[in-house]
Amino acid sequence: MNPLREVLCSRCGNPAAIYLRYARLNFCKEHFLDYILGRVENTVRRYRMIRSGSRILAAISGGKDSSTMLLTLSKLTGKLDFDLVALHIDLGIDGYSSEARSIAEEVCRITGVRYAILDLEDLVGLNIPELSRKIRRPPCSVCGAVKRYLLNLAGVEVGVDTVALGHHLDDLAVYIVKNFLLQNLEDIRKLGPKTEGYDGFLVGRIRPLYEVYERDTALYASFVGIPYQSMECPLHSMGVEDRIRTFLDGMEEDSPGFKIAFLRSIARSIPKYPQPQSEVRRCSLCGMPSQSGICSFCRMTMRALGKPLGLELRGKVREIVSKL
Ligand SMILES: [Zn+2]
Ligand SMILES: [Zn+2]
Repeated sequence: MNPLREVLCSRCGNPAAIYLRYARLNFCKEHFLDYILGRVENTVRRYRMIRSGSRILAAISGGKDSSTMLLTLSKLTGKLDFDLVALHIDLGIDGYSSEARSIAEEVCRITGVRYAILDLEDLVGLNIPELSRKIRRPPCSVCGAVKRYLLNLAGVEVGVDTVALGHHLDDLAVYIVKNFLLQNLEDIRKLGPKTEGYDGFLVGRIRPLYEVYERDTALYASFVGIPYQSMECPLHSMGVEDRIRTFLDGMEEDSPGFKIAFLRSIARSIPKYPQPQSEVRRCSLCGMPSQSGICSFCRMTMRALGKPLGLELRGKVREIVSKL
């Protein structure tokens, strides 16, 4: 091949802007956007993520992944017949959360998706760093628990049966391998394309970007021209995950498409992974899901503030999301 010959889009023959190794296709910007939208639609269909006539609550962080998820899902509402609303959780992390919040709001405005914001400081009186210090737990684990709790609570109060999460292929592959190495096999079940809800107090979860690479979510957001937060959370610390990511990136480099094949076989194998030993129970204080008698959110707020806030929060969250 003549090295000077211009590389052309596989769809329209115009100059290509991007080559996707895993698909062995070149695309111009427009056809790249089409292609990724198609990948999201196929992923949603393949794993039967969205029931016709249902309502989906998308969790929007202000980062490129969830923004790309919102952009693509908002284009599919008519075709796949569902209603889409969004939620952003302001975690109060200095120098990070206010930017994330304004970007999340802007993406919702651009897509025309109705949204609500839960502000942790307004709701609890503490932000993530303060909560983490008070209960002496690492900020990332507190943050994860708070986000899971509030998102589920919002989903229950909005009355949706499913929340959509912006996790992409690369992160999911890392978490799955990490859980495999640690033999947390039950946790691998929770990382599939879809988890079912439970009895009106645990909403189901879907991951429309299950088969979309991280690099593609960043390109999608930048080609569309939407803002996204590129800053990493300042509290974030990686360790094992980084090593696993490097290993998996090497596998992908050697055989493009490896991660997609890996996640597809995980999705097929998930039914064979062990179920949690105990049934999901309800927190005796707030009624939300709990492994033991009292949920982690009620326990955390009890330690930090002297009283469990779960139940009190339900009323506040109900009022905030009632506009959706
Ligand atoms: Zn093209
Ligand atoms: Zn509780």
